[in-house]
Amino acid sequence: MKNIIIFGAPGSGKGTYSAEIKKRYGMGHISTGDVLRAEIKNNTDLGKLAKGYIDQGQLIPDQLMIDILAVQYDSHPQGCGVIFDGFPRTIAQAEALKKMLAERGHTLGMMIELIVGEDILMERLLRRAVLEGREDDNEETIRKRFAVYHSQTEPLSKWFEQEGIRHTFSWDICKTKEGMLEAIFAEIEKENK
Ligand code: ATP
Ligand code: MG
Repeated sequence: MKNIIIFGAPGSGKGTYSAEIKKRYGMGHISTGDVLRAEIKNNTDLGKLAKGYIDQGQLIPDQLMIDILAVQYDSHPQGCGVIFDGFPRTIAQAEALKKMLAERGHTLGMMIELIVGEDILMERLLRRAVLEGREDDNEETIRKRFAVYHSQTEPLSKWFEQEGIRHTFSWDICKTKEGMLEAIFAEIEKENK
């Protein structure tokens, strides 16, 4: 399987669709948000550092994320493909990922962009705040995360387009999780034919 990069704003469903893709194709899954939250829970040095950024809705510095990512990637079996969820989030991270993969004889694979309107994103994240109690899911921090997304992460969409691997899926068109999944699975299968 080709690697997959799941890309989209906070609350766009990266984790949800990653889990479904993983289940269907038996791929590896790296969620940088989950990795950081586990470090915070275990109160490690990395966790303490990360918490400062996450609570402010800011990104963790690129070099740190890049190092974490390489360790995670090498812990997965080669050849089955890995889903990158929440990484890359900056152009620097994307360039580093491309290089890291090339050094291993691998490629970026395909990028899946989830497009969801901001009203729906806010609604989902506030609902998740009640269900999961994530500290960064409060309205003030969510607004900051949206701003960071627009300024630092969204420009990457074009970067992937230039790489020729961007595939977009819009909530407005698919309308349901099942509809999104059907379209995503079809595209993955086309890419891996
Ligand atoms: P969702 O998971 O609903 O799409 P999200 O994208 O805001 O929401 P996570 O991917 O779990 O959430 O990330 C949570 C926080 O962890 C981010 O706001 C950021 O502070 C930090 N983080 C995660 N991945 C990265 C990364 N690649 N680079 C820098 N910071 C990161
Ligand atoms: Mg997530």
